[in-house]
This record gives sequence, C-alpha cells and structure tokens, in this order.
Amino acid sequence: MGENFAFFLPIMMASFGVAFLIVWGWGARGAGWWSGAFFCVAGGFAVPVAFQALPTHLWGVVADLLFATGFLLFSQALLDRWRPGWMLRLRIGIWGGSVLLCALALWTDNLPLELVSSDFGCFLLISLPLVAIHGQLRRAPDRALYAAAVLVALDNLVRGSTVSLTLTGGVPFRDSEYAFLMQALACMFGLFLALSALAACVLDLLARYRHDAHVDPLSGLLNRRGFDDRIVRQRRKGGSLIACDIDHFKSVNDTHGHALGDRVIVTLADMLRTLAPADSIIARFGGEEFILFLPATDAATAARIADAVRLHFAEQGAARLGLPRPLTASFGLTTLHRADPSIHDAIARADSALYEAKETGRNRLCVRRALAVPDAVPATDGQLRRA
Ligand code: GH3
Ligand code: MG
Ligand code: MG
Repeated sequence: MGENFAFFLPIMMASFGVAFLIVWGWGARGAGWWSGAFFCVAGGFAVPVAFQALPTHLWGVVADLLFATGFLLFSQALLDRWRPGWMLRLRIGIWGGSVLLCALALWTDNLPLELVSSDFGCFLLISLPLVAIHGQLRRAPDRALYAAAVLVALDNLVRGSTVSLTLTGGVPFRDSEYAFLMQALACMFGLFLALSALAACVLDLLARYRHDAHVDPLSGLLNRRGFDDRIVRQRRKGGSLIACDIDHFKSVNDTHGHALGDRVIVTLADMLRTLAPADSIIARFGGEEFILFLPATDAATAARIADAVRLHFAEQGAARLGLPRPLTASFGLTTLHRADPSIHDAIARADSALYEAKETGRNRLCVRRALAVPDAVPATDGQLRRA
C-alpha cells in the first residue's frame, strides 16, 4: 500500500502544481504561491522514491528542505490576500530552524528527531497564518480552505507528537505506521487543501473579471453593464432616475487637454458619490454622462439631491481643478414607475428631460413625469422645469 501511495502522491501534488500554474497564468496572483508549494511538496514525496538506493541522510535533507519550503509557501499563499508580509521573518526563521534540525538529526542518524523537526516545522508554518486570517473569511470557499489548512496543521501536529508510537524499531521507515499515516492523510487532506484553494483562486479571478466588466476604470462608478445588472434587483422598489451631462465638455477638452477633461469627469463622479444617498446606483453611461437611480425616493427628494450636486459642481468644480471658467452640468429627472415595461423607458424619459435642460440654457434640472406620478415637484431656486 505504501508503495502505491509513494508513486501516487508526487504525481497528484505535481498535478496541482500545474493546475495552479495555469490559474496563475490567467492572472490569479496568489495561485503562484500555491503552485510553488505543491511542486515543492511533490518533490518532497518524490525524492525518497527516486533515490531509494542511496543512504537516507543524502536525500533526506533534500526532502526535508522541499517539505519545509512547500509549507513556507503554503503559509504565504494563505496570507496572500489578507496580510502577505505578516511575520515573514519569523516564518523564514521557523523554516531555517526546522531544516537545520532535520539535517542535524540525519547527520546523527536520529530518525525520530528528524521526523519531529520536520512535522513541527510544517505545523508551525501552516498554523501561524490561520491565526492571522481568522475572522476575515466571508466566502464559503475561503472557509473551506481554512478548514483544510486546519486539518493539514493538525495532521502534522498529531503525527509529530506520536512518532514514538508509529515508528517502531526494527521496521524499515517505509513499512512503518508513520509512513502509512503520512501518505494516507497527505493524500486526503492535500486533496481537500488543493481543491478548496483552487476554488478560492478561481473565484477571486471571477470576482476581478466581474468587477472589470461592471466598473468604469476612470471614475470608479458602475458602467452601463454594471448599472443594468444592479438595477434588476432594485427596480421593484420604484424610485427616481437622474440623467446628468457636463455642459460644453468638448470645449474643456479642446482648451485644457484630454487629461484635464478626465479629471473633470472624476470630480463630478466624486460629487455624485458623496451627495447621493448611500443606496443609490450611480453609473457613468458614456463620456461625460451619468445616470443615478435613487431607490424608493420620490421626485421631490431626488430633485433636491440633483440640484445640490448641480450647485456644488458649479460652485466648486472649476476651483478644485484650478480652471478660470466655471464648470456646469445639466440634469434630467424622472420617476421609475412599476408600470414602466423596462428601465430603459425611464432612462429615455430622464434623457429627454436632460435634453430639455440643455435646450433651455444648461446648468439646470428638468423633470419628465412618469405615468401616475403626482406632479407636485417643488421648484428649486427657480431653475426646475416641468414636463
Ligand atoms: P453639451 O453641453 O451639449 O453636452 O456639449 P458637450 O461639449 O459637453 O458635448 P459633446 O457631446 O459635444 O462632447 C462630449 C465630449 O466628451 C466629446 C468627447 O471627446 C469627450 N469625451 C468622451 N469621453 C471622454 C473621456 O473619457 N475623457 C475625456 N477627457 N473626454 C471624453
Ligand atoms: Mg456634455
Ligand atoms: Mg454628452
């Protein structure tokens, strides 16, 4: 049985090394640590099989070095997302200390000391990060990964503490209970660890792709796709929709350059984020156009918010960027009604109100009523228009 595992384990661990290498190539940063760790552990299991004919102390130290390095990389892989530099010196110290003790034990032909040093070194290396990342695990794969790492840590701790029971004198190492338990448990827990780490890495990657697909990199607001995705869950509550467009933006670009134009976009985006309620869905829909959805907000409240942004931008936008001429933006407002067949009908109404604001002089807010919405929207500083 031991013989079968002896061949199986290096191949299994190396296969995971390859799998993580591929995921790393897709851009999952932490997968590089996992790949290195599984390759090292694969090497640690392969060395005794490959160099059986040589005396143990020759290949033993190489195997111990590979195991210790593998576990140092496991610790780094676990910490990578939360606290990559945490206790790095201590972890390197444990790695070095465990390898030195193993070498000393091999030199003096003390097999139990070698196994205890290696097992306790690996236990410390994988359990330290578990202290640091405890309480930060929100997703199911992260919790599964944590559980797998706990099992691997306990495996090393229990194995290292029971060497005197599992390593009986006279029985060759590879026929000992110690070797059987090490291979059987490494197979089970290693599989669990690898699969949960792989799931966590792939989910990280998907979350990043999803973020990139839904968020506008310049303003940090949602893009059109992100808006469509978020609004589906919110629109049943009803609410108000505001379309907003910077006035004469082309001339800002033409006069001050595209880079400053970008900063104008970011400035208005920041003001929208700051002045809109926390549950608003805010998106940059195009060049200098924004859409805000304010859930469960009536037209009067939404008009006050839109006007606050308009005034704030007109008063402070240009000053913030050191521009001599004031910057302004126009706003169109409508309410989302349950009778609207799609959000795009409401967006079209807000756009049409925005168009009216442009047509009637810019730097103002106009309103298009939705069906069955009371038309009592109070004027704000005389610049609010009714549809
Ligand atoms: P209006 O008051 O009618 O809205 O006029 P406008 O000049 O703001 O509108 P227009 O549609 O004529 O010009 C919009 C300009 O926005 C043209 C385009 O070059 C610029 N633009 C689009 N996207 C970006 C961007 O990401 N950064 C910068 N700096 N400019 C952009
Ligand atoms: Mg414009
Ligand atoms: Mg525009």
